[in-house]
Amino acid sequence: MVVSGMSPAPQAGKNVKPEGLMKAAVLHGIGDLRVEMIPVPEPGDGEVVVEVMRCGVCGSDIGRILRKGTYRFPTVPGHEFAGRVVYDPEGKLCGTRAAVFPLLPCFRCDSCRAERYAQCSSYDYYGSRRDGGFERYLAVKRFNLVPLPDGVSYEEGAMCEPAAVGLRATKALGLKGGERVLVSGAGPVGLCTGMWLRARGAAEVFFSDIDARKLELAGKLGFGIFHRGDSGFDCAVEGTGAGDALADLIVAVGPHSRIVLLGNPGGNVSLAPADYQAILRKELTLRGTWNSSFARNDNDWAEVVAAVADGRLPLGRLITHVISLDELPETVAKIAERKEFFCKVMVDNER
Ligand SMILES: [Zn+2]
Ligand SMILES: [Zn+2]
Repeated sequence: MVVSGMSPAPQAGKNVKPEGLMKAAVLHGIGDLRVEMIPVPEPGDGEVVVEVMRCGVCGSDIGRILRKGTYRFPTVPGHEFAGRVVYDPEGKLCGTRAAVFPLLPCFRCDSCRAERYAQCSSYDYYGSRRDGGFERYLAVKRFNLVPLPDGVSYEEGAMCEPAAVGLRATKALGLKGGERVLVSGAGPVGLCTGMWLRARGAAEVFFSDIDARKLELAGKLGFGIFHRGDSGFDCAVEGTGAGDALADLIVAVGPHSRIVLLGNPGGNVSLAPADYQAILRKELTLRGTWNSSFARNDNDWAEVVAAVADGRLPLGRLITHVISLDELPETVAKIAERKEFFCKVMVDNER
């Protein structure tokens, strides 16, 4: 039966397919994000219907919405979300609370066969290549569900993505116990990385950033603040994609240190000859990291959920704003203005 108007919230435990229309933030073109009513999605092969409870706003969403666009229009953005399964055509998962790994692998390429899904040559993606979490219901592949235990909230579930990216960077660093680590970029992913570095045995974690308000939050979370000229770091994570920030790290780390490159560049990245030469003289190791691992024997997402559940990863402390879906377009504009301070902005569909 198809009814018009907003679907009523399905009751917990009942396996009822939501029908009719739902609220969604739809990107119709670059800079054209509209909150409107669209049809509830039909679950396809291997899919269940998830009621999205929370969806975080990522820095990459701001770029997609205002400057770069999504792969096609219209698309519902949002790739950092959690909710509960309200309809499973097989009747098994209904009521399951879950975060969602946003990458849909092709399962055919060499990387997929090795379960290195982040390097899939032909992937799909919730919130950029296909509809994502800034809506009430989404049809999600069973493969992508990450079940949340009772002690983990939907907010925390919606922050699994930046936390899993931070864990991937931390693993890439090959942390040895008791090291002093410097991280450039105190945004949500950088701070998640800092939490992981601490949880995995770093003695001290320092942050650098050009925004004093970000450093203030880093300080409140118990991290050290880097000042130009500080040195003697054992390793570092570059989370900004800016050459100046990378140069600071190259100067601040000692000989034979490692630097993990995590930040996405906004343009060309250049280094002064002396900074470049320091890589050579110090025999530094620079390595990249991308997205997160969702392999069966190396699942960053499962590790994030476990670390949130046992209190090692206080992700909720990164949330500075909670908004309704209706407030999303104006909030995106405010974030881009950079006047007000935002760390993690969370869309709460119960508002
Ligand atoms: Zn993200
Ligand atoms: Zn693939």
